[in-house]
Amino acid sequence: MSTLTELSLSEVTTGLRHGNFSSRELAQAYLERIERLDPALHTFLTLTPELALVQADQADQLLSDWRKNGGAAPSPLLGIPLAVKDILCVAGVRCTCGSRILENFIPPYNATSVARLRQAGMVILGKTNTDEFAMGSSTENSAYGVTHNPWDLSRVPGGSSGGSAAAVAAGLAPLALGTDTGGSVRQPASLCGVTGLKPTYGRVSRYGLVAFGSSLDVVGVFGHSAADAALVFAQMAGQDTLDATSVELPVPEFQPDASTKPSLYGLRVGVPGEYFITGMQPEVEAAIHQAITILEELGAVIQPVSLPHTQYALPVYYLIAPAEASANLARYDGVRYGPRQPAEVMWDVFRHTRGELFGPEVKRRIMLGTYALSAGYYDAYYGQAQKVRTLIKRDFDQAFTQVNLIATPATPNTAFRIGEHADDPLSMYLEDIFTLPANLAGVPGIAFPAGFDSKGLPIGIQLTAASFQEDLLFRAAHAYQQATDWHTRRPSLNQS
Ligand code: GLN
Repeated sequence: MSTLTELSLSEVTTGLRHGNFSSRELAQAYLERIERLDPALHTFLTLTPELALVQADQADQLLSDWRKNGGAAPSPLLGIPLAVKDILCVAGVRCTCGSRILENFIPPYNATSVARLRQAGMVILGKTNTDEFAMGSSTENSAYGVTHNPWDLSRVPGGSSGGSAAAVAAGLAPLALGTDTGGSVRQPASLCGVTGLKPTYGRVSRYGLVAFGSSLDVVGVFGHSAADAALVFAQMAGQDTLDATSVELPVPEFQPDASTKPSLYGLRVGVPGEYFITGMQPEVEAAIHQAITILEELGAVIQPVSLPHTQYALPVYYLIAPAEASANLARYDGVRYGPRQPAEVMWDVFRHTRGELFGPEVKRRIMLGTYALSAGYYDAYYGQAQKVRTLIKRDFDQAFTQVNLIATPATPNTAFRIGEHADDPLSMYLEDIFTLPANLAGVPGIAFPAGFDSKGLPIGIQLTAASFQEDLLFRAAHAYQQATDWHTRRPSLNQS
């Protein structure tokens, strides 16, 4: 039965519809594989096997009714397992956000993204590891231990959605949800050799996503291919009255071109010089240029573009994101959220609860953010950062008058060793140098495998598009994946 976990998503959908196997058998196959392989990887923080089997049985019932009675074909996601980053609420399931302060928090409701995927019949396997409150690029900031990269267990999977990325890479779930505030879907997708989509800001409801940087946060998805990710995106996207920043726009359905070599004729792809920097791993640079050549062979016109304010993205992000985080995390005070640490006076309750239960990176962000927002510094730091953010957004607006897509590396290097950046927060922050600008501009991005380095570690390319043009990202990534097989490679975990 374990071979069920090796089928492609379309094979699984077909098999379920024909009744060749059941959703229960599929969920059991994944749970069995998780039990066997996850102790070495630590991708899941909470498993929900009972819930999964109940949901799978419901899916099997719907499938059997459909086989008997006919009618419209069910959702391609009906009965398909899903892993959920432990920062998105699933009703009745512990949601830790990788933090001790929410060790026992059980949300009474579903995030809208989760609710919509449940509506489509997906089966939730459990909650995946994350850096504490999604602050980090390696999962090393999780209070519950690091996740290991399935391609090399001594290396990080990236972060903050490292548990979800590694779970898909290791075949522990066919699809997984993540969140991306500064790169937390695209960077781990790149480091784990899977496809990861960050939608346009406002495209997917943030309701039930525990807030980090509210003007940057977006729910994204991991899968083995762009076509797989597109299915989840189509279900979870769209306006939601529970999130005032969600946008009322139709969500175009991506219909993968069935031909073996779809064409990118008519698309212009820009390559910004600012994203090929000294210090990046030469093998990454070479692989990205190679991938861009393939896009050209598929019919795209390649041309240089400039995003002149790119160098300011990192400092701007590290003012805006911590400022928003310091406000969002004020609620974890032992009164509203968090187990109250006993003390004589109120201020000591706050001090002990926050001092003892937040990890060092979260405290660092709260201090940076509080400082940037404080009287006398607000204009010089936060206000200034907002202005430069506008310039970064205008860079993208300008570039997208010339090209349809922008192609860059997703990360400057492949997966680094666990502990390699542990004592140097700044070197960790540099990991997201190529992904942060899209969050500041609000535009969508997709990362997917474009080769391997000499150590056998995956390399990821990133495509970005103008706001609400996710379908262009899917089209280009799908065409690339029809022409190459990097995305079909799997780490050899069975021996371990
Ligand atoms: N690594 C970045 C940070 O630490 C981005 C994290 C994210 O996208 N959630 O803030």
